[in-house]
Amino acid sequence: MARYTDANCKLCRREGQKLFLKGARCYSEKCAFDRRPYAPGQHGQTMRRKVSEYGLQLREKQKVRRIYGVFEKQFRNYFKRAERGRGITGENLLVLLESRLDNIVYRLGFAPSRKSARQLVLHEHFSVNGKTVNVPSFNLRPKDIIKVREKSANLEIIHEALKSSGRGTDLAWLRVDKAKLEGEILEIPRREEIPVMVQEQLIVELYSK
Ligand code: SF4
Repeated sequence: MARYTDANCKLCRREGQKLFLKGARCYSEKCAFDRRPYAPGQHGQTMRRKVSEYGLQLREKQKVRRIYGVFEKQFRNYFKRAERGRGITGENLLVLLESRLDNIVYRLGFAPSRKSARQLVLHEHFSVNGKTVNVPSFNLRPKDIIKVREKSANLEIIHEALKSSGRGTDLAWLRVDKAKLEGEILEIPRREEIPVMVQEQLIVELYSK
């Protein structure tokens, strides 16, 4: 299945917002969006289009897909599950995306970005409740323990990520133990505890047409 391989920074510039797709670089002065906060391409600086309601909804959906790195079809499936759940669909959608193993590995600070987290999971560097899991979309639940496997305990990328990140430690619904290289989901996060700047209601409106 094809994955997006063009420059990640173009995605931020296209969406007009920092999506934090490249780890430490996103917080440095090298961030392409901070340097060129306009759409990529020849007419990126001059383009001024009136965006329709549909356009706004579509962009919001693309933004969320890009942040979490999921395909259209997967995203639709997440939405269907969110609709079936109790409560507010938009919030359910974000909670489901947040519960992905690759996202939690990133949130705990074991990887510099979700993309790296995905690679680390695919290469079997993590276990969940003592069992190796190599599925980035693996759905985690409260009380699940995520641990760097013993054979991977010396991986430089994990230690570098931990050194440079304060992620996980500032989210009340996660517990991270850097010395033991393990983390835990304490509870399902509320919307205000998910640090993602999107208007999920627009996605619900898009799919409700
Ligand atoms: Fe986006 Fe800046 Fe990170 Fe590039 S460096 S992915 S533009 S936030």
